[in-house]
Amino acid sequence: MIPVTKTYFPDIAEYQKNIERIWENQWLTNRGELTLELEEMLRNYLGVKNIIITTNGTLPLQIALRNVATEGEVITTPFSYVATTAAIVWEKFTPVFVDVHPDYLTIDESKIEEAITSKTTAILATHVFGNPCEVEEISRIAKKYRLKVIYDAAHCFGVNFNNESIFNFGDISTCSFHATKIFHTGEGGAIFCSDQELHDKLYYTHNFGHNGPLDFHGLGINAKISELQAAMGLCVLPQMNEILKERRKVTEVYDQALNFKNFRKIKIRRNTEWNYSYYPIIFEEEKELLDKQSKLNKQGIYPRRYFYPSLNTLNYVKPIKMPVSETISSRILCLPLYVGLKDEDLSIITEILNS
Ligand SMILES: *Cc1c(COP(=O)(O)O)cnc(C)c1O
Repeated sequence: MIPVTKTYFPDIAEYQKNIERIWENQWLTNRGELTLELEEMLRNYLGVKNIIITTNGTLPLQIALRNVATEGEVITTPFSYVATTAAIVWEKFTPVFVDVHPDYLTIDESKIEEAITSKTTAILATHVFGNPCEVEEISRIAKKYRLKVIYDAAHCFGVNFNNESIFNFGDISTCSFHATKIFHTGEGGAIFCSDQELHDKLYYTHNFGHNGPLDFHGLGINAKISELQAAMGLCVLPQMNEILKERRKVTEVYDQALNFKNFRKIKIRRNTEWNYSYYPIIFEEEKELLDKQSKLNKQGIYPRRYFYPSLNTLNYVKPIKMPVSETISSRILCLPLYVGLKDEDLSIITEILNS
């Protein structure tokens, strides 16, 4: 079977070495040696000022929202994984959807201002598929209306924009290190914030608000990563350049072999060093997508409909039409893309799609 993605498994001997360190330390969590080492390596690899690694990529969204506002409306994208909207609703904010750009699939910055009201407190947008939002324009709008900007950068490990980590943009960025993401710790994630004061607040929040064993610095939750998770990250990180190279190779095969007649690719923003995180294609008709999907499934190939449905249609948000997001959601399919995807499998996939 060929799934849309396969988790990258590092060399087991390397993993065992890290696990032995955990046994020697007799220390499983609460920011142990491996966690601190992974944070330091990531800070250097990514070129970010601050990082807090966490136990998944959803809690960082909740922690970020909590630390920029207490209530109100959050402007957000309808085209993302469900976690983006769920975090807003879970924290009792009201999501206000702004439709996406039909080529980039990121929030349409030209429609943000008309969605701002006296209750708006933040913008939470997704760099979907690792494609950066129009960060400069969003930053201008945020300054004008005194809003905080949080980027769900779950897909963005290794993405640079204007020669800088995409995690450096906005007030806060978050990432996911889930097993299906490019860099992973099994389950995991991270929060990035360059403002030291806000970073410190996020840091306290991710560890129950602890300020030493006997003192608390405000309300917190447990979003700590364990040493077992960090051990995986320490083995995957040194392979990142290889992983990105392999993914780029698969992407180039699709680019060359596919016949873009009945479907198109998304447009990657200018000045972006991309990470080949997904290979989405957008069909002209949903019918055609379903037809190709069923033909691929018959050969044991399982692309995924990322992201379907459009998040404005979830049954726990106020119904509102988002025409671009809804039509794209119904016509977009992500093709298999992972390290180790064989050339002969790629040929079968491209042949079916071109036929
Ligand atoms: C994966 C993902 C998340 C959630 O991350 P987890 O690590 O699974 O909690 C959030 N937002 C987006 C856009 C994602 O793709």
